[in-house]
Amino acid sequence: MKKLPESSKTYSHGTWIEIDLSRFQANLRLIRHAIGPKVKLCFPVKANAYGHGIAKMALAAQNLVDYFGVSCLQEGMQLRALGIKTPIIMLGAIDTDQMRDAIAHDIILTIASDYKAQRASEVAKALNKIATVHLEIETGMQRTGMRVDTAMEVVNHVSADPWLSLQGVYSHFATADRPNDPNTLQQIQTFAAFIAPLKTRYPDLICHLANSDGVIYYPQSYFDMVRPGILALGYANAAATMPQFAEIKPFFSLKSRISFFKVVAENSGISYGHAYKTKKQTRIVTVPIGYGDGYRRALSNKGSVLIRGKRYPIAGTICMDQFMVDIGQDEAYVGDEVTLIGTDHNETISVNDLAQLCDTIAYEILCGFNNRIVRKYRE
Ligand SMILES: *Cc1c(COP(=O)(O)O)cnc(C)c1O
Repeated sequence: MKKLPESSKTYSHGTWIEIDLSRFQANLRLIRHAIGPKVKLCFPVKANAYGHGIAKMALAAQNLVDYFGVSCLQEGMQLRALGIKTPIIMLGAIDTDQMRDAIAHDIILTIASDYKAQRASEVAKALNKIATVHLEIETGMQRTGMRVDTAMEVVNHVSADPWLSLQGVYSHFATADRPNDPNTLQQIQTFAAFIAPLKTRYPDLICHLANSDGVIYYPQSYFDMVRPGILALGYANAAATMPQFAEIKPFFSLKSRISFFKVVAENSGISYGHAYKTKKQTRIVTVPIGYGDGYRRALSNKGSVLIRGKRYPIAGTICMDQFMVDIGQDEAYVGDEVTLIGTDHNETISVNDLAQLCDTIAYEILCGFNNRIVRKYRE
C-alpha cells in the first residue's frame, strides 16, 4: 500500500477514517466479473457513499461502473460538479421543483406516475432538452413505484412523449437477504412478466432489479443491470453463496490516537452517570471521538477498541466528542494509535461487530460517520 498523501493532514481532532480505494476498485472488478459482460453495473453512492465520502468514491469508480445511483438531487449535482460524465440515476421519487435542475444536469429521473411524467415533459419542453427517464414499478417493496396494472399506461404515455426518453424500468427488493425467499421469487416473477412485452417493443430498455442481496442470492434477477451498494463496500457475506465473491473485502478503517492518560483509583466512576466503576486501581485512556462524529452512544460500556494489538473495553458512557478506555495495567501513551474499526496485529473489529452491539445494520453504522471525521484515501 502506498503512503497516505501529505494533503491528508487536517485540523480534525485526531480521529480519521482510512479508505483503501484500490481495494474498492478490486471489489468492483470482482462484481463485474461475477455478473458477466452483458449486465451493466450501477453503483449507488447515496448518503455520502455510505459514509465513505461520495467525491473520492465516485472518482475512483467512474471508469469501472456504467451508472451511479443517487437518492437526492444534491448528490447528483455534486457528482456533476466534480466533472463526472457517467450516467446518474436518481432513485426514488423526485420532487417536481427539482426536475429542472436534474434535467439540465443530465440526471436521469425516476418516474412512477402519470402526473410526474407530465410535469417532467413540461419542464423538459421549457428547457428544450429531452429528459431521460426510468420507470419504477412496484413488485413487493411498497416504497415508491407504480402498480403493474397501471404502469403500462404510463409506459405508453412516456414512450409517446417527444420530450421524454424512456431508457429503463426498475423495481427494488424487500426481502432478498436469504436464498429462495418466496416474496423475492414473486418479485422477480412480477418484474419479469411486466418487462417481457416491453423488451420486444424496446429491445434496448435497461431493466434492473437486484441490490446487493439480489446479486448474491438471485442471479436470475440480474436482467440488464444490477445495483449493489453494500456488496461493493465489502460488507455482504457473499462468499457463502458465490465463491467468486470470496475476495470481496471491506476497506474502511476508523482510527484515533490516545489524547489523555491517567491512573485512576479503585471504585472510581468513569464518564457521565458513572455507569462504569473501576474494580481496582487502573489506567484509563481517553479517545477523541464520540457520538457527535457518529460513533454510537449505544457502544457505551459494550464496545471495545484495539491498542498495540490488544483489545480493551470502552469504560462508561460515550460522550459527544470523546470516550474512555480501561487498559488495566498495560502500557500505552498519549499519541498511540487506537483502532475502532479495522485490524491491529491479530485483532479485528468489523463494522458488523459494531452493528450487532448497536442492534442495527452495517449500513446505519457507516452512514452515521459525518464530516467531522477526516477521510484519508489510499490510492
Ligand atoms: C440503496 C439502494 C440500492 C443498494 O442497496 P444495497 O443493499 O446497498 O445493495 C439499490 N437500489 C435502490 C433503489 C436503492 O435504494
